[in-house]
Formats: sequence, C-alpha cells, structure tokens
Amino acid sequence: MTRQCEKCGFVNQDDYDFCAKCGNPLIEGVQPKNFVVLKPEDYKINTKAIIISYIVTIFLSWSGFIIGLLFKNNRMAAVTFFGFFMPFYLVQSRHPTIRKHGIIQLIISLIGISLSFYVMLH
Ligand SMILES: [Zn+2]
Repeated sequence: MTRQCEKCGFVNQDDYDFCAKCGNPLIEGVQPKNFVVLKPEDYKINTKAIIISYIVTIFLSWSGFIIGLLFKNNRMAAVTFFGFFMPFYLVQSRHPTIRKHGIIQLIISLIGISLSFYVMLH
C-alpha cells in the first residue's frame, strides 16, 4: 500500500512516515522531525587537502624566486602568478577556517611572487 499525502497529493512509499515532497506527516499523531541543518563550521576539514594546498601555493609562487636565484633564469617570474590560483579558490570557501588558510596562502604567494619579480628585475 502506498501512502498518499493529504496536503500535496504526492504518493509516497508505504514505509514513509512523512511526505517526501512536502514533509507533511503521513500517519496521524506523528510530529515532523526537526531537520538537522549543518552549519559550514560543522563540516570536517580535510587536513591533508589543506597541507597539499599549501605545498601547491608555495611551489607555484616561490619557484620563480628559487629558480631565479639558482639559475639566473628570469622567465620563471611570470609563472609564479599561478601561485594565486589556490588562495583565490580557498578564500571563496564558505568555511571560515578554509578562508583563513586562503588568506595565509595569499600572503605567502604575494611574498613569493614579489621576490620572484625582485630577482627578475635585479
Ligand atoms: Zn505532501
């Protein structure tokens, strides 16, 4: 037997206590359950992904400086602009902790890119 919702007419499976479409109780005397809404703060942060993002940011934004120092190769400085990629992605996160890491990485990449161009111009 299927359970048809009295409120919206949606036909639900017979083991449903609440309408799948509108949430109306399908059995008398049953109160709608409180839906648990996850706040962004509740999401678990993937620590490994954060560490990888730091490595990517440092590698991309500081490689120009290191290569410029070691090999006197100036062209790498332009490549360091890719160092902005990861921080810009992170600062758009809804999660405040990830945004914080994004801002830290933005500073790291800014320093790295500045140093790369300093090496390039000197
Ligand atoms: Zn319904």
